[in-house]
Amino acid sequence: TPSPDKPPLTVLLCAPRGFCAGVVRAIDAVEQALRLYGPPVYVRHEIVHNKYVVEGLRRKGAVFVDELAEIPDTTAPVVFSAHGVPKSVPAEAAERRFFAVDATCPLVTKVHREAEVHWKKGRTVVLVGHSGHPEVVGTMGQLPQGAVLLVETVADVATLAPPDPQTLAYVTQTTLSVDDTREIVDALRARFPAIVAPHKEDICYATTNRQEAVKVVAPKVDAMIVVGSPNSSNSQRLKEVAERAGCPVSRLVLRAEDIDWSLFGAIRALGVTAGASAPEVLVEEIIDAFAERYAVTVETVSTADESVFFPLPRELRGAAAE
Ligand code: SF4
Repeated sequence: TPSPDKPPLTVLLCAPRGFCAGVVRAIDAVEQALRLYGPPVYVRHEIVHNKYVVEGLRRKGAVFVDELAEIPDTTAPVVFSAHGVPKSVPAEAAERRFFAVDATCPLVTKVHREAEVHWKKGRTVVLVGHSGHPEVVGTMGQLPQGAVLLVETVADVATLAPPDPQTLAYVTQTTLSVDDTREIVDALRARFPAIVAPHKEDICYATTNRQEAVKVVAPKVDAMIVVGSPNSSNSQRLKEVAERAGCPVSRLVLRAEDIDWSLFGAIRALGVTAGASAPEVLVEEIIDAFAERYAVTVETVSTADESVFFPLPRELRGAAAE
């Protein structure tokens, strides 16, 4: 029963939201490695871009490092994050005889293989993505230095200087804005009509579906909360999608304590979604925080069904059966 002293608030909960199959698999891989081998389990980079998830695994005995050089000689598992790694990383792990567990999302690996095939066919690879993001570092690192040209914006396309405009292909980061990427790809096609496209889009199903749900919900609400980390690419994109769909207030929030309540005073409808690396428990925490201040009614707005599942990394599957 709504409380008489609280203003009413309709929460439109976007579906799908939150964890994707690649994130579930990466977290499961670390947990399974901890179960099978005990701590420590080394993890190169945040396994997924969420501090809450990382802290939880750290408490169970995962040790996060930026580079393999930080890991002492060990027989403990060394897990590579869902974002993927440059080829130099498994090479270094093999040299140091590490027990490497590759938790790279299979949909990122697909992009890696595409880039490699293009390269073998003599094409220069254009990567559409955000400079410095670990996935971009990993994809560029599939090929020799200089073989991949990074494009971040439509403006970058104008200054692109490939060695041969006739032998070009493009791949993209998996977590980009669907709309921005379409514009960049259109610009690439206009300037380089011979450019070879991916067989199937590189932006993954989870990114596409979460953006689609936000587009439907954003015009119906006064504010949108995206549960996720500032360093999560797909979460940042969800915040932008809501802004562009005309939502007056759109904020990325990691925990309830991060909410700036001054932004949400007189709202009557709030959209809530979560990035692919944000656990549902944080969505609940944030809705609970609103329920302390408003008489909340939650409605789910569902725009797609998801049933994607990826089995654990190969390195852990055999062991799991023992
Ligand atoms: Fe894989 Fe997409 Fe999830 Fe990234 S966001 S881990 S590519 S399913």
